Amino acid sequence: MICVPLVSSSREELERDLHEAARAADVVEFRLDYLAGARPRELLPLSRLPAIFTCRRRSDGGRWEGRESDRLALLQEAVDAGAPYVDVEVDAAAGLRRRPPTRTIISYHNFEETPEDLEDVYARVASLHPDVAKVVTTARDILDNLRLFRLLQRASLPTIAFAMGERGLVSRVLTPKFGGYLTFASLRRGAESAPGQPTAEELHSLYRYRQISARTAVFGVIGNPIGHSLSPHIHNAAFRQAGLDAVYLPFLVDDVVKFLQGFAAIPVAGYSVTLPHKVAVMSALDEVEPMAREIGAVNTVVSRDGRLFGSNTDCAAAVGALVSALGDRPGDRSPLAGKSVVLLGAGGAARALAYGLRREGALLTILNRTAAKAEELARPLGSQWGGLEGLAQSRCDVLINTTSVGMHPRVEESIVPPAALRPGMVVFEAVYNPMKTRLLREAEAAGCLTVSGVDWFVEQAALQFETWTGRSAPRRLMRDIVVATLAEREAERSRTSGAT
Ligand code: NAP
Repeated sequence: MICVPLVSSSREELERDLHEAARAADVVEFRLDYLAGARPRELLPLSRLPAIFTCRRRSDGGRWEGRESDRLALLQEAVDAGAPYVDVEVDAAAGLRRRPPTRTIISYHNFEETPEDLEDVYARVASLHPDVAKVVTTARDILDNLRLFRLLQRASLPTIAFAMGERGLVSRVLTPKFGGYLTFASLRRGAESAPGQPTAEELHSLYRYRQISARTAVFGVIGNPIGHSLSPHIHNAAFRQAGLDAVYLPFLVDDVVKFLQGFAAIPVAGYSVTLPHKVAVMSALDEVEPMAREIGAVNTVVSRDGRLFGSNTDCAAAVGALVSALGDRPGDRSPLAGKSVVLLGAGGAARALAYGLRREGALLTILNRTAAKAEELARPLGSQWGGLEGLAQSRCDVLINTTSVGMHPRVEESIVPPAALRPGMVVFEAVYNPMKTRLLREAEAAGCLTVSGVDWFVEQAALQFETWTGRSAPRRLMRDIVVATLAEREAERSRTSGAT
């Protein structure tokens, strides 16, 4: 079930929110600490959905500053009026006279951590014989979620258990997988009643919360930061289209090795891996495909019979996007063979491309702001290298930008002088935020063939989907989702920059 807390402070807003919540939630929560002077008896008939009555003290993350006896009197009024649920904290539960039909939720909140003695905390709550036990902690580490899952699996009575904060999102979304009684979701962004609460819309349309069950396969992206990752949008949409019982989550991870060991208990069926974990992840895998080992980075992990296999779809996706722009050649020869390619940048993206290009037989020159890094990458590949000043003299068939120049917020920058762009040349841009960088705009104007960072991003995700599922990926849908999500973010940015 999804419970939407109503955090409006006026009666008018409350009635509007109740109307909206009726479409998104199974249960609503009246927060008496937000509604000064509101009486449970008057609120009760307003909701078509079953309602929880709660009145949180400041120390429990609420707004109540009045006397404790007045607070308990309000909760008692809700019980006496026959409210479906009343939530009272574990230390205050003795002060409430409980009686049917009201179900009492006895709750524990910890805004600092997920304490070591979590099982004892639960035992203390359960010893008071609540109708529903509630244990809400804060995830300081992603592994804290596992302890809440174990608590749910062993629970002796209906239990709500999850962790707050960005690292706890996983426990909120996977509640139905582990038999949790309900999860909380805000009505809209900005209406959260606790840190890390997703919106009801996200639970429904992004994570397909209602379809999640004990059998649902779990996938996700490991990174740090991870909040703005496009991967949950693209992969959840692809799973939905393919009719797969699977959900894809963002995992905010500090220590990737400990994370993989811990989450083997769920188990997770597959991962995308992004910055800064693409290198460190390799030491935690049972097997790494030779190309990924050569590149020195893994961006895809699949679990088969409990063993973790790593691969790199960045390389194949980038080369694939270039090959289709150049057009297939008759015979076995790659269209990149013998082509002169200038690769700008020597970071992670450049690495994945450089190995792929060498394999295709391209004549590669790597130019980077820090020339020593270009040399480090180029030497083992037998390629040329130099600083960015080398760009002015270069005449190439393919020009690739893998530097972050042009990326939001410095969208008006490009390191390629327009004079270096010639008709018929292929220009490949790694940056996808914004979708059309200054380099791509100028390359189009100069009559170049262009390949965008979106093409690359979609293809690496499509190859991941195929690695995990063995099915062909819904590329068109994946592309539409990426374009729509990026367009929404670009519009949001221009709205907020216009407002300031
Ligand atoms: P990275 O490892 O941090 O490397 C950044 C590169 O950009 C380095 O070569 C750096 O040069 C160069 N650079 C940064 N600021 C510069 C400046 N002001 N002038 C000149 N060069 C500058 O990052 P990465 O992982 O390679 O990612 C690079 C870009 O590719 C990002 O925008 C990322 O979003 C994008 N990307 C896209 C995809 C996709 O699927 N489309 C995949 C991967 C990456 P120094 O060595 O001198 O610092």
